[in-house]
Amino acid sequence: MRSAPRANPYRDAWAGDLDADRAGSAARVSGWVHNRRDHGGLIFVDLRDRSGIVQLVFHPENGAEQFAAAERLRAEYVISVAGGVVRREAGQVNPNLATGEIEIQVREMALLAESQTPPFPLDSDVELDEMLRLRNRTLDLRRRSMVDALVLRHEVVRTIRETLSDEDFLEIETPILTKSTPEGARDFLVPSRLQPGSFYALPQSPQLFKQLLMVAGYERYFQIARCFRDEDLRADRQPEFTQLDLEMSFVEEDDVIDVNERLMAKVFAVGGLDIQAPPYPRMGYEEAMLRFGSDRPDTRFGLEITDVSEHLRASEFKVFASVLNRAHPPGVVRAINAGAREVPRKELDELTEVAKRAGAGGLVWAFVQEDGSWRSPIAKFLSNEEIGGLTTALDASAGDLLLAVADKADVAANALGTLRLDLANRWDLVPEGRHDVLWVVDFPMFALNEDEDRWDASHHPFTAPTAPDGNTAAALAAAESPGRWKSRAYDLVVDGWELGGGSIRIHDPAVQSLVFDAIGLDAAEAELRFGFLLEALRFGAPPHGGIAFGIDRIVALLAGLPSIRDVIAFPKTASGSDPLTGAPAQVDARQLRELGLRSTAP
Ligand code: ASP
Repeated sequence: MRSAPRANPYRDAWAGDLDADRAGSAARVSGWVHNRRDHGGLIFVDLRDRSGIVQLVFHPENGAEQFAAAERLRAEYVISVAGGVVRREAGQVNPNLATGEIEIQVREMALLAESQTPPFPLDSDVELDEMLRLRNRTLDLRRRSMVDALVLRHEVVRTIRETLSDEDFLEIETPILTKSTPEGARDFLVPSRLQPGSFYALPQSPQLFKQLLMVAGYERYFQIARCFRDEDLRADRQPEFTQLDLEMSFVEEDDVIDVNERLMAKVFAVGGLDIQAPPYPRMGYEEAMLRFGSDRPDTRFGLEITDVSEHLRASEFKVFASVLNRAHPPGVVRAINAGAREVPRKELDELTEVAKRAGAGGLVWAFVQEDGSWRSPIAKFLSNEEIGGLTTALDASAGDLLLAVADKADVAANALGTLRLDLANRWDLVPEGRHDVLWVVDFPMFALNEDEDRWDASHHPFTAPTAPDGNTAAALAAAESPGRWKSRAYDLVVDGWELGGGSIRIHDPAVQSLVFDAIGLDAAEAELRFGFLLEALRFGAPPHGGIAFGIDRIVALLAGLPSIRDVIAFPKTASGSDPLTGAPAQVDARQLRELGLRSTAP
């Protein structure tokens, strides 16, 4: 319960806290006119402050002047009123309002500010165009749904701060004007005026600084950190976003996971999320890719993927044979049993499009018939034995729709993984109110970058790798290729969203050099870009590891909102602009001159 505000000429109570216990006393409240209704000689005003809404009643007998002023009130005027708190008549009680049993009989009113007519109503939850909302964010933020989201966000951050402080973590700030800290995205650059031609980069994350703090002996660090990534914006990304960033020394995977499970259980409880208690299940990357076609599997519904290559090795059907007999990279045939459904031809074509957009060459479909045969364009190319084998492998029975992709393993996984999500959406397969949490572990250290013919770190290049024979520099060097290295990384996935990810880090400079080498950074360039890290590692670095969680996503999940923009006070649009301030914007020529810059933009 909030404590009452200090009494002053504006208020001595919060509007939303007045209840039947206060009946018979006097109260003074301030806020915005939520709406006004004139009823047979009486005027009713819903007064809104951050805490909620209270109903005001203006009687002509309580002062003609004040009543006349009330007649002039419009939505969003700011007023302060004083009067008696009285119980409403039985028929007038509003059970939907915390203050619904009482109202204030106004005796005094001060008009503090007028308002133009808002471009949209603030007293109803109508769907509004998002551009309109962002352009008028100050007004949009007055709406109850936004207040609720930002209050929840505050509670989440407060829980994080309290829990981690109790666990002996120190909150330490790291720089915003810094040098490139790679997380795989493009940097935002800030030109230096004092050193023309030089640039700061905004941090993609505090990754390197938190590692330096570990080398410096701070043992347990956290920060509610703003991160900046100049990516081509996808639907629910923001160029700046907030992470809970943390790091610990002298730890292994289980230590980091343990603290964070306990923390997350508390965070989930803040939002009243019905989700399993720790320890959370763990799933290997390969299993996740195989069964769910994604490294952030949504396990709330079935439609799991099965590899059926074994049943088709001898197939004479060209599409399967050519994929399965390819030596490099080896191909697979994988399939989903989509269950017994009437799916018209047109929808099958749509599903094929989904698979194709996700990279597959095509999609094979088949309906299992009463006699075990298939109704499918490819049925005539398969032997009865093959059809029987596939039907059994997919645990299919009469009426079931089977969907298969033949391709490289990663393409097949991605296509069927995308298709799974599409089907769940299309057929509404996620059970209402269900939430699933799990860790994904055992990631490959690198992914092959075919365009540039080199390895890219799957997590980031400061993640500790392991080779089949251990994780020393010698064991890593002995592995036949860095493609065989795994990483000591872990991701926390909820409902198919990656809420957080981290890893045990490299603390041996020789291993760090091996990783730089594998991603194509030669020693000179590594020294130039990350010399400060390599140097720190040479001065006694403890084994350490950490994680970062996306606060925006966590709050959106807890609030049950589809977009992170609804839990950020001042977000940007999908094209990275802010319709409220007009950012990004041109600057004047003098500012550019001072920075030694000239624009070549058309
Ligand atoms: N810095 C990583 C990220 O932002 C998280 C971590 O490894 O702790 O994704």
